[in-house]
Amino acid sequence: MSSALWTYFDPRGLGLTLSLSAGLLALVLSITHHALGGRLPGMRHAALGVLLASSGFALNMLQAWLPPTVGMVTAVLMIMAGLALLLGGTTRLRARQPPWRALAACGLAGVGITLWFGVVAPDARWRIGLLSPLMAAIALKLAHTAWSETRAPYRVGMRLLTLFGVVFACLMVARGVLAALGQVESSVSFTPVNAGSVLAGGMALIGCVVGLMLVLSGDLMALVDHQREHDPLSGLLNRLGLRQWIERQAPDLPMALGMVDLDHFKRINDHHGHALGDQVIRHLATLLQEAESPMCRTARLGGEEFVIVALGPEQAAPLHQALERLCARFRQGGPLPGATLSAGLAQGSVATFEHTLRQADDALYRAKQAGRDRVEPAAALSAA
Ligand code: GH3
Ligand code: MG
Ligand code: MG
Repeated sequence: MSSALWTYFDPRGLGLTLSLSAGLLALVLSITHHALGGRLPGMRHAALGVLLASSGFALNMLQAWLPPTVGMVTAVLMIMAGLALLLGGTTRLRARQPPWRALAACGLAGVGITLWFGVVAPDARWRIGLLSPLMAAIALKLAHTAWSETRAPYRVGMRLLTLFGVVFACLMVARGVLAALGQVESSVSFTPVNAGSVLAGGMALIGCVVGLMLVLSGDLMALVDHQREHDPLSGLLNRLGLRQWIERQAPDLPMALGMVDLDHFKRINDHHGHALGDQVIRHLATLLQEAESPMCRTARLGGEEFVIVALGPEQAAPLHQALERLCARFRQGGPLPGATLSAGLAQGSVATFEHTLRQADDALYRAKQAGRDRVEPAAALSAA
């Protein structure tokens, strides 16, 4: 005769397997995050939190084998501390200050309830009835914190943390209600409800570590993308980054484009050294960045050549004035007073970006020919 399906899910074996797997994954996550430079504030706490909670979960499954109360008390405290650390870490991952004081107060309340109703005056109904809402509240706060993540690289991972928070809170509420009704069966006894809740809780815990792993990989992907599209010396967009920004714009959008080139930069390097040359490049980048807005981006195309693109109709005149001001400011200050720059200005549209760039380059060439330290508009602009 075949037995019922749930009997294949022995809560103890299932709980141990799932919690040990989650703990192992949390350890791997922690080591990987450390090996990658420990860039994400909060990840260490979150991984440690999952490790603690999984170990507490595993210990809970071994309750019957451990000395009475020791297993239960230690397990509950580890799960509470783990949840609190996970919430604190997740809050830091969201670039917010964790509510450490509130969490410590919850932790103290948890310790008090566990010791009083677990050791001093054992009463499972009160212990579970009071602890469950406390844990459910922390889990719901975790779910809410993770759900409010809006940054694209972290969103998918945070959704899994939300799922864990909701599942865990539901399990705690159910356990609290059952306790209030006087049903305080051990969570490892062999019943379909226990099999289901251990399965749900264990899977959600694994989902939570996978979520944290996705947050870590999302952060790495964002870093790689940023490095691919930015110049490390100046921090400005590089040629690829600028092109990708242009490609995201409507093709018929008009643009004004300024090409900027340092004058006699080779001589500056030769006379003052490359380190000062680098400082001059960074200084120019800072001045260019001041002009940035959602419709105006600057980039370092390579060497000592920069570009500034202003999108929108009739941007040539304002950009011309901005380049004149840039010339004057650069000449007056910075790491090497007296250093100058030249610029070429052209006008076109997003669809004719490459052509506009060439026109600005031609105008820049004429600025150099005419003696440098000046802004030269493209032929079509001067004729207008
Ligand atoms: P012109 O006024 O005609 O533009 O002359 P130039 O000397 O500025 O132009 P040229 O193209 O002859 O030299 C550019 C120099 O820029 C050569 C190269 O060593 C220097 N350079 C390119 N990239 C960097 C950099 O990242 N740091 C430093 N310090 N120098 C760089
Ligand atoms: Mg130059
Ligand atoms: Mg050049």
